[in-house]
Amino acid sequence: MDKQEKKAMIEVRNLKKYFNAGKKDEVKAIDDISFNIYEGETFGLVGESGSGKSTTGRTLLKLEEITSGEVLFKGQNIEEVRKRKELLDFRNAMQMIFQDPYASLNPRLTVGNTIKGALEVHHIGENRQEREQIVKALIQAVGLDPSFTNRYPKELSGGQCQRVGIARALAVEPELIIADEAISALDVSIQAQVVNLLIELKESMNLTYLFIAHDLSMVRFISDRIGVMNSGKLLEIAPSNELYKAPLHPYTESLLSAIPVADPEEERYRERVSYDRSTHQYEENEEVAMYEIAPEHFVYCHADEIEDYQAKYEQLLQNA
Ligand code: ADP
Ligand code: MG
Repeated sequence: MDKQEKKAMIEVRNLKKYFNAGKKDEVKAIDDISFNIYEGETFGLVGESGSGKSTTGRTLLKLEEITSGEVLFKGQNIEEVRKRKELLDFRNAMQMIFQDPYASLNPRLTVGNTIKGALEVHHIGENRQEREQIVKALIQAVGLDPSFTNRYPKELSGGQCQRVGIARALAVEPELIIADEAISALDVSIQAQVVNLLIELKESMNLTYLFIAHDLSMVRFISDRIGVMNSGKLLEIAPSNELYKAPLHPYTESLLSAIPVADPEEERYRERVSYDRSTHQYEENEEVAMYEIAPEHFVYCHADEIEDYQAKYEQLLQNA
């Protein structure tokens, strides 16, 4: 994407979300993160379970109250979206696809009625006939046979359920789709199919994605840029290719080393790198921030660490 024409759809500024703030059981689910999601891009958000990824997604959707900082959607602070009509438009513009595709469907509704329900709630389509046309088109768009219209969730495989979930999300013509571990529960072969479908739909329907995952294996195929999250903090943000070629933060390295390799010989010698968080604890008053180590490649570190990261970057590019 040309830097000149990049327009932010989402701007997250110093966002914090603490659960039970100020109490003994306080959880810093999001601890001062900043990032943008540009129109038309797929931003991958990756990190182990408990890192704060889902909370981030939920906060963008206004499903969680913000502790401090702000989120802008197309330039507007989402806290200011309050009027009924504005809220409805906002909810239309952003849709979520969930991890458990089966559980997210109503078992008593056929595929057709599930999608039709979404159209009705959001007042899309002039009449029944038109809505049926849209349902048919959506079922086709997600690669299902029209005969699926009358089937129930229990008659579908996991991958097929997820396709219905995607069709339902698309029914309201959203601009941003937040896919929270949307493929994690699926077989690996099916994961690739759903990722390919999401890529196709993004092109044909002008979508922007926040793609959340707990490992780095599939994210690379769909993401333009990736943010690596741990303990409520973004530790590294880089264009997708860059992140795999030159992972700088040790936590990113550990996530990368966890991906199995297809070649059995290579897999045998694959080294797991573990991340020791205590080596990256900073004092309250230290100058720790996201520093741009290379163009568009940011690492969360102390000012004193910049030179080392720059050297590491040069080294990795030479070896690549
Ligand atoms: P991820 O999606 O990366 O696994 P989450 O955003 O779900 O992480 O959770 C981040 C942290 O916030 C975890 O420690 C989790 O237990 C905590 N958390 C999430 N939701 C709540 C809640 N409603 N109340 C208290 N703690 C929560
Ligand atoms: Mg989660």
